[in-house]
Amino acid sequence: MEHYDIAIIGLGPAGATLARILEPQFKIIALDKKRREGEDGFQKPCGGLLAPDAQRSFIRSGINLPVHVLANPQIFSVKTIDLQSNITCNYQRSYININRHAFDLWLKTLIPQTVDIRHDTLCKRIEKEGDSYRLTFEENGVTQEITAQYIVGADGANSLLRRTLYPQHSIRKYQAIQQWFKELHARPFYSCIFDNQVTDCYSWSMSKDGYFIFGGAFPMKEGKKRFFHLKEKMTERGFVFSSPEKEEKCIVLCPSKWRDFVCGKDNAFLIGEAAGFISASSLEGISYALDSAEILGNIFNEQNSRPNAVYQKRTGKIRRKLFAKVIKAKILTSAWSRKLVMKSRFADVPVIPDM
Ligand SMILES: Cc1cc2nc3c(=O)[nH]c(=O)nc-3n(C[C@H](O)[C@H](O)[C@H](O)COP(=O)(O)OP(=O)(O)OC[C@H]3O[C@@H](n4cnc5c(N)ncnc54)[C@H](O)[C@@H]3O)c2cc1C
Repeated sequence: MEHYDIAIIGLGPAGATLARILEPQFKIIALDKKRREGEDGFQKPCGGLLAPDAQRSFIRSGINLPVHVLANPQIFSVKTIDLQSNITCNYQRSYININRHAFDLWLKTLIPQTVDIRHDTLCKRIEKEGDSYRLTFEENGVTQEITAQYIVGADGANSLLRRTLYPQHSIRKYQAIQQWFKELHARPFYSCIFDNQVTDCYSWSMSKDGYFIFGGAFPMKEGKKRFFHLKEKMTERGFVFSSPEKEEKCIVLCPSKWRDFVCGKDNAFLIGEAAGFISASSLEGISYALDSAEILGNIFNEQNSRPNAVYQKRTGKIRRKLFAKVIKAKILTSAWSRKLVMKSRFADVPVIPDM
């Protein structure tokens, strides 16, 4: 059985960044459910908006975004709609509108050839065996096993490594559902919708490459029913839906307490959403995936003798920032405090009505 220094499970923004920055002296294997290229196979459902913090991570690495990853158009504000108070505000935002699947595939192309990448591969089991970890995975229908000294779970919201390391741990989660329609609005826009009758999280829409994507994060129970109920309400408010071209569903984590952030133990590490690193107020997670990967990569490259303890310490800033988002989410998802914020019209950029 082949032995590696480091095994990475998942090559989303977190895993692909870690695999890119690790020094070539390590023997590394990276397993990823997505294919190497093309539209077939697994695609991560996402809004595909790159926040300024994610952009900062690319600045630090000296990486520019290729045009094929960008989506059309680039939009500068989010129409925030509160269905309880019936208030709408437009907040300026500096997101970059991207094609998330193209972005993920491009990130994988930046990984050096020294990393043994297994595309279209599903990791099925992780076991601790003495000082190493044994990984069982399926590649092209063939079950294989390897061992590794260090293992990194970059496998997103439903992380196998997180469930293996912390079987008793439960973190608040929602069912994210989104449908894609042909864009029929005269002016493409982003929106963020609060409606406590359908979800205590939030819903969204965005326009991308001729499509209108409408979705939300709903309680696990009756998610689909709630989605359709909201769709009806938004139709009455002028959203235009043709018949859906595509529907996507996945779990999205929404941390609600400090101990929801879990960094790993015993030479096993969690980065990105697998660690619970996602904003509870906006569900923005790409920047935390990039940042946590960079922190862990530096720790490995320094050959630190206490990598778990140091990773726990150095992610303190991320965890404090995300905890502040938990508090922000409580304010935004409570109907009365949200009304106070939106009624103040603070930072609202009013849109001039059509002449
Ligand atoms: C509907 C929705 C909209 C969102 N919109 C935004 C947004 O606009 N902007 C933003 O910043 N964030 C957004 N997020 C959050 C963001 O998508 C995640 O936080 C981010 O993708 C986390 O990156 P990651 O690398 O940690 O995990 P992921 O992106 O989930 O990547 C994990 C990868 O691991 C692989 N994988 C998983 N399990 C296995 C396995 N067992 N074996 C092998 N491979 C495996 C998969 O291929 C997957 O690509 C959104 C989330 C959802 C659900």
